[in-house]
Amino acid sequence: MTSDPIMRVRFAPSPTGHLHVGNARTALFNWLLARGSGGTFILRIEDTDVERSTPESERAIIEDLRWLGLDWDEGIDKGGDCGPYRQSERQHIYRAHAVELLSRAQAYRCFCLPEQLEMDRYAALRQGQPPKYVGRCRAIPEAEARARAERGEPAVIRFRVPENRDVVFNDLVRGEVRFSSDVIGDPVLLRSDGTPAYNYAVVIDDALMGITHVIRGEDHISNTPRQLLLYEAFGWPPPAFAHVSLVLGPDHGVLSKRHGATSVAEFRARGYLPEALANYLALLGWSPGEGDELLPIAELARRFRLEDVGRSAGVFDVEKLAWVNRHYLKLAAPDRLARLAVLYLQHAAWVSEPSDAALAFLARVVAPAAGSVDRLDQLPGRLHFLFDYSAPRALANDAVRGEAESARAVISALADELASSPPLVDRETFRAMVARLRERTGQKGKPLLHPIRLALTGEPEGLELDAAVPAIELGAQLGADAGIRRIPSAAERAAAFRAALGA
Ligand code: GLU
Repeated sequence: MTSDPIMRVRFAPSPTGHLHVGNARTALFNWLLARGSGGTFILRIEDTDVERSTPESERAIIEDLRWLGLDWDEGIDKGGDCGPYRQSERQHIYRAHAVELLSRAQAYRCFCLPEQLEMDRYAALRQGQPPKYVGRCRAIPEAEARARAERGEPAVIRFRVPENRDVVFNDLVRGEVRFSSDVIGDPVLLRSDGTPAYNYAVVIDDALMGITHVIRGEDHISNTPRQLLLYEAFGWPPPAFAHVSLVLGPDHGVLSKRHGATSVAEFRARGYLPEALANYLALLGWSPGEGDELLPIAELARRFRLEDVGRSAGVFDVEKLAWVNRHYLKLAAPDRLARLAVLYLQHAAWVSEPSDAALAFLARVVAPAAGSVDRLDQLPGRLHFLFDYSAPRALANDAVRGEAESARAVISALADELASSPPLVDRETFRAMVARLRERTGQKGKPLLHPIRLALTGEPEGLELDAAVPAIELGAQLGADAGIRRIPSAAERAAAFRAALGA
């Protein structure tokens, strides 16, 4: 019995911008496959585009991958037997292999000037032909070409694409894919400054890093025949390929800025939890089984099969992402939610550097509020009642004033009752106070509870009073050094509301 070789997969981002969710999904699929099969996941940085690659982008991509919960076994900061893992540090390897192809006449030096190539392109387009390199330098004898290069004439190294060949491969997602080599112009391997072109570096790296499966976006499918011909030229067995469909916006165009957020960093800033985004991205084009979509990442890895990845494009559905996020927000530990909420509360200028006591308080109030939002950046909207209470402002709203006017007796009794009540720090104390107020006013149900809500929160609707009032009272007990804007107590609120109402 033969066993499959250990699967080695890689994610190979170009550090030229943010991590797009489509690329994050590619990374995730590779990771799921490696983790589900006991394989190896490699992170390689493809920074050969010196103009556009930046260390900041590289750092940000790494941070986003880690945030999503993806880790790698070999890679730029991790090391491994096949390094270096940054293409800019592998120039000598690309050069040596290009020399090998030159020596076998499978590559040649090309001296065509950019203006000439541009004119060739223009001529081809005018004749309705797909532009490809015309092959002008193909026939220059090697000794002459070498002499010209040694005299300092700028030259690129091109791959000599074999003529009249069909290149066929069996894509694990798309099935059989066939290209004729005649439509492929001889691609540049090394540019005149010595840097490698993508189609070349990717083959050298995937081969030398022992990659068994290349899983990437379908925008790379037309690159694959060039890459396969290079494997053949070196006599290397090619990896298996799986080209996954792109992530589209609701109008079925590739998900881009005009659809809103596109990068992992933006989704993170809006307050999606990493486990929610990872779970959602896994569902874009793949399904772990009907009715069983919300699963921890380890379970997704256990079930993930490339054969089950669909060919049809994944349309990014923000509503569904919100649904997944709500699920994880409800599961999240309160102290984690409190720490995550700080950023948004700081943004609202309600919190500076919260003390431990303030964080413990936030853990109690953020968890119930997080149960009713799609994203953490909506939290401040749910917590206005705590941090931004103002009786005059509440009563400036005609609807609130109207309702308060007709409930003067309850509001006045509430202020009296709270002036002598102990703080309502839990549900029981709050309910006991409500019972006393019922006795005192003869009101019950909505006519009793709604005025309490208006007076204590300043809002006609919001969190359950059972949770909101103890939150107010606990917040009011925090000291001035808590790093939180002062929260007036229920008694102070009731008194201020009564005064503003003139009751
Ligand atoms: N650097 C390429 C990209 O970001 C990688 C493509 C590949 O996986 O081969 O699109």
